Amino acid sequence: MGRTYFLLTMFLVALLGASFAVHPVEAAFSDHAKELTKVTGVRIGKADGSVRIVVDSDRPISYKQSVLSNPTRIVLDLQNAWIAPEAKKNTAVDSPLVSAVRVAQFDATTVRIVVETSVGKGGWRLFSLTGEKPRIVMDFGKPPAGGKPAKPVQEAKKPVPVQPPASEKDNEVEEEEHDSERLERDLSAITGMKGRLIAIDPGHGGSDSGAIGPTGIMEKSVTLRVSRELKRLLEAEGAKVVLTRTGDTEVSSKGSGATAVEELEARCEVANRANADIFLSIHADAFTNREVKGTTAYYYTKGTKQSKRLADSVRMALIDAIGTLDRGTQTSNFYVVKHTDMPAILVEISFISNPDEEKMMNSEAGIKKIAQGIADGIADFFG
Ligand SMILES: [Zn+2]
Repeated sequence: MGRTYFLLTMFLVALLGASFAVHPVEAAFSDHAKELTKVTGVRIGKADGSVRIVVDSDRPISYKQSVLSNPTRIVLDLQNAWIAPEAKKNTAVDSPLVSAVRVAQFDATTVRIVVETSVGKGGWRLFSLTGEKPRIVMDFGKPPAGGKPAKPVQEAKKPVPVQPPASEKDNEVEEEEHDSERLERDLSAITGMKGRLIAIDPGHGGSDSGAIGPTGIMEKSVTLRVSRELKRLLEAEGAKVVLTRTGDTEVSSKGSGATAVEELEARCEVANRANADIFLSIHADAFTNREVKGTTAYYYTKGTKQSKRLADSVRMALIDAIGTLDRGTQTSNFYVVKHTDMPAILVEISFISNPDEEKMMNSEAGIKKIAQGIADGIADFFG
């Protein structure tokens, strides 16, 4: 009892701390928005064998560059900058050099540009031009035909070498870099579910059944049923939903021939390419001891506060809905929460190895409650 009160007090103290920490940032944004450099546009030009991306701003702008792999993404964080909401965009580029350009307000003072590219080290040039029309230019492939390459006035930081292609070991190397690059989306400008793009990943599928319960219920079918119902509920609230799979299949185009990493990579890619606002991977837990039960939500060990908040919101609403044991919000290095560009969580609904929870997760009523709980949690998150 005493311990419970102690924990409750600690929780309230933490909650107070968190709310004090959040408000000054919000205030700062409105007070200082005028002092920020405005990103007025991002232009993408394509010519034979080249792609040029130009970022226009009303004043010279400083930026940090980093490179992520799987797929290769060049991330430019423009400092002390803001971009009008209508200028935010997600452009697919039909070129073998660059496949997509995403532009968004990353936090109160940073505009983030993510370029998905297939070129390796030395395959692009990045420089900024000052003067009347300040701009940052990225050239991929040979300089655009019909003109000399623009002269770098102020050479920026040297491009970070691109990591060699995927292998698990390289992923580990790359992830060190990824840690500081988690996207804190600016989700404060709009509230509610309407217009949100939500990526839902029904865990496992196809040749991978996931965990199997005492009576043979497979995790892959529970996660798909929950995800379909969740999609229906979220769409009814005005959100858009992208599912990584809609049937009992693998997500990777290699099907059952895909490695575990390729399969998980394919799931992240669905969310990243769609530029989803949030990502949820749905799973059911299992343990050798059939007594063990409860709900857990995970976010990436070095993930954002937004991911943690999403995990907390979904977990608490889910527990309200299905009344199982609260196993808390935990951090993890699960591939899908690590390699997604948006607030991302993995939810273990409850234990399929526990006979009662298996039964609940296999019932129509149970599926409905679970989906409603998760949807309520997402609604809480968006506020
Ligand atoms: Zn699972």
